[in-house]
Amino acid sequence: MSRHTSLRVGGPADLFAVPEDAEDLQNLVNHLGKQEIPWMAIGRGYNLLVRDKGIRGAVISLERFNEIAAGRENRIVAGAGAENLAVVRFAQERRLGGIGFISGIPGTIGGAVRMNAGAYGQGILEQTECLTLLRGGEVREFCMDDLAYGYRRLDLQNGDLVLKAVFRLHPREPQETEEEIRKDRELRNSKHNVGLPSAGSFFKNPKGQAAWRLIDAAGMRGSRVGGAQVSEVHSNFLVNCGDATARDFLELSSQVKNAVSNTSGVTLEEEVRIVGEA
Ligand SMILES: Cc1cc2nc3c(=O)[nH]c(=O)nc-3n(C[C@H](O)[C@H](O)[C@H](O)COP(=O)(O)OP(=O)(O)OC[C@H]3O[C@@H](n4cnc5c(N)ncnc54)[C@H](O)[C@@H]3O)c2cc1C
Repeated sequence: MSRHTSLRVGGPADLFAVPEDAEDLQNLVNHLGKQEIPWMAIGRGYNLLVRDKGIRGAVISLERFNEIAAGRENRIVAGAGAENLAVVRFAQERRLGGIGFISGIPGTIGGAVRMNAGAYGQGILEQTECLTLLRGGEVREFCMDDLAYGYRRLDLQNGDLVLKAVFRLHPREPQETEEEIRKDRELRNSKHNVGLPSAGSFFKNPKGQAAWRLIDAAGMRGSRVGGAQVSEVHSNFLVNCGDATARDFLELSSQVKNAVSNTSGVTLEEEVRIVGEA
């Protein structure tokens, strides 16, 4: 899985499946269900820490579910495998805007929706009207009113797969979107350019506080376990210096959490999803 995740760590999955379409996916999931083989979805692995023993069961990539289409009245329908930036560009070409803030978030719509990815105080689910899920072997559509979500969180049932999302956008001049993308790039280049493999922010920001500030205050900037390090550039980014293992990241994460808890009394929670056999 180190080949499929941006942290570049993680042992092998038993099975890596790339279904062709919804029918193929349904057959696969039904088959796995009958065999009692667990499964999980992956986007581009930008928010995943896979343990060193890898993943027992199947990892399903929806990279082929990448169509983007115009819906009725300023809506855009995007498949789970579509890249965030491609969706923003598609909307821009149709003079629509409202999700420009995801343009610089690496990954796919499936991953963005699952994580309620966001930036500048906004989350993708606020602009989402409904989701198509594969739940219990059936393809079903859910309005956002039927689903619970919050900061970097969407409550789904175990085994739910996001197939597509409908975004409700508003008219926007393409030039304004261009400017939004440019500013986002500039900001990310200046603040997030850590130069080493990472998963972006490792910890969620506690309510009203910035995780990086708490980590700095705890004196953890630059601290290292094996090949994993708290970035010198951005202290909420844990980076792979070249030869890190998942174990290094887990140990470093636990040291950061302890240090922050001791200095500020705050319990940090990982934003990165930790999966695989311990
Ligand atoms: C440099 C950098 C900067 C980043 N900046 C930001 C930022 O500003 N804001 C932000 O929110 N995040 C940020 N991230 C984190 C990451 O980009 C987001 O969480 C992104 O949404 C992950 O998308 P992905 O497709 O790679 O998902 P993955 O990492 O592959 O998966 C994330 C989770 O979603 C699940 N999942 C994926 N696809 C599906 C699906 N189709 N159905 C059901 N579950 C699914 C996975 O099982 C996993 O639990 C950053 C990461 C990096 C490396």
